[in-house]
Amino acid sequence: MSNERVIVVGAGLAGSLLAIYLAKRGIGVDVYEARGDMRLSEAAAGRSINLALSDRGIAALKEVGMDEYMLREAVPMYGRLVHSTNGATKLLPYSGREGEYINSVSRAGLNIALMNEAEKYPECGFFFNRRCVDFDCDTGEAFILDEESGDERTVKGATLIATDGAGSAVRRAMMNGGIPRFNYAQDFLEHGYKELSIPPADGGGFRMEKNALHIWARHSFMMIALPNFDGSYTCTLFLAHEGENSFASIGSGTYGQDGATPDPHAALEAFFEDHFPDSLPLIEDLHEEYFGNPTGDLGTVKCFPWNAGGKALLLGDSAHAVVPFYGQGMNASFEDCRVLNGLIGELGTDWEQIFKRYSELRKQNTDAIADMAVENFYEMRDAVADPIFVRKRELETMLEQNQPDYFSKYSMVTFREDLPYSVAMERGNAQDRLLMEICKDVEDVSLLDPEEVLGKIRSLGNQFPEK
Ligand SMILES: Cc1cc2nc3c(=O)[nH]c(=O)nc-3n(C[C@H](O)[C@H](O)[C@H](O)COP(=O)(O)OP(=O)(O)OC[C@H]3O[C@@H](n4cnc5c(N)ncnc54)[C@H](O)[C@@H]3O)c2cc1C
Repeated sequence: MSNERVIVVGAGLAGSLLAIYLAKRGIGVDVYEARGDMRLSEAAAGRSINLALSDRGIAALKEVGMDEYMLREAVPMYGRLVHSTNGATKLLPYSGREGEYINSVSRAGLNIALMNEAEKYPECGFFFNRRCVDFDCDTGEAFILDEESGDERTVKGATLIATDGAGSAVRRAMMNGGIPRFNYAQDFLEHGYKELSIPPADGGGFRMEKNALHIWARHSFMMIALPNFDGSYTCTLFLAHEGENSFASIGSGTYGQDGATPDPHAALEAFFEDHFPDSLPLIEDLHEEYFGNPTGDLGTVKCFPWNAGGKALLLGDSAHAVVPFYGQGMNASFEDCRVLNGLIGELGTDWEQIFKRYSELRKQNTDAIADMAVENFYEMRDAVADPIFVRKRELETMLEQNQPDYFSKYSMVTFREDLPYSVAMERGNAQDRLLMEICKDVEDVSLLDPEEVLGKIRSLGNQFPEK
């Protein structure tokens, strides 16, 4: 069946937002989603998995009129609250400037809100339990499996946009001969992740500082916790799959057992007592959650080209999955939608031209955020426990408080949606090297002359207008 509707594969965060953008332009859109409708599933609605939403994502939500709605239920996080092993805590603000903070939002809540909004437009239809199993890059036909009946059918639209995530079926079809010389690279970290949770206090309320991203950085591994609107926190433990401190050493029950009979539960308890003792009384269902929740892999996907002429485009994680350490995967995917929408505004529905221009504009930027996200893993894991880095953050906060045109690399990435990621990376890296050098030999950064430091930064060409 051929018609002029656009086919979107995947009703995740990017696909649902894209559906709104297209429908707002009066473009008919059919969204095929492999899973059931999460609005009908208690499991999805009940789990508090959250994400950090920042200015690039907010800019896109604003364009479709969803920013205020989403921020109403978001928890602002003003900095990283670092937990030492002895229980001491220290807040490292994300910015010294007022109004620059990130927001903890519910993944399911955001996805549901976007789908609800998209469905308000008669142009938009969602089809659940419909998995794309293959795509023909020559004809533009997608093969859709009905997960309930087992029937398969072929759909074809004006074009197809694949927002089917890191394991994209459309990308697989491009790679398996659909596109000649298709470049593909997947780099796994040796670390994986597991989600745990801290419930609200009795009678409601938060059991730790509410407005911060909590981080237990332990050099070769770490745990973070983001607040949820209901007073709970979602914790994510990032740990090597193998080795001394690892999922394997806990799972095999050998961690900290010193010759005693291996016992995974004792190993888990010992691991948390050794490294995250202040979290132990808070994570009430530690054993149940640790052994019940899956261990996820963390990897970067880079590929190119992203389009099959004007017949298909990869967007969001399907084109560029990044590790989560800059909190930018969703924000970058929302920015993808925003850039694509801008090009539709310019070029109408000349999909081939749009996809070509889009790829030229986006590729260097998504490569940049992918690389910065891996670097930030090491920063969060190691550097927040490094005194030179802590002094550098203090100096940056001081500069941000007093110098309107100073932006840290983190701020450029997170709060300056007007700066492409590639520019933020290039300028941010040069600036970081300079500031680390300055902080190496200074015990007390408040004794530094901010004008002198700023002069050095300006000599790198890093001067930005106020937002
Ligand atoms: C632990 C973790 C923490 C993160 N934290 C953050 C954060 O704080 N901030 C941030 O910005 N980003 C974060 N991210 C990244 C973010 O989750 C992703 O970048 C974002 O979800 C990408 O959106 P997407 O729509 O491209 O893919 P997804 O959200 O993965 O959606 C893909 C959709 O496609 C569907 N699908 C898959 N295959 C098919 C198929 N064959 N046919 C039809 N449908 C299909 C899936 O069911 C899903 O609904 C995090 C990621 C992880 C793993």
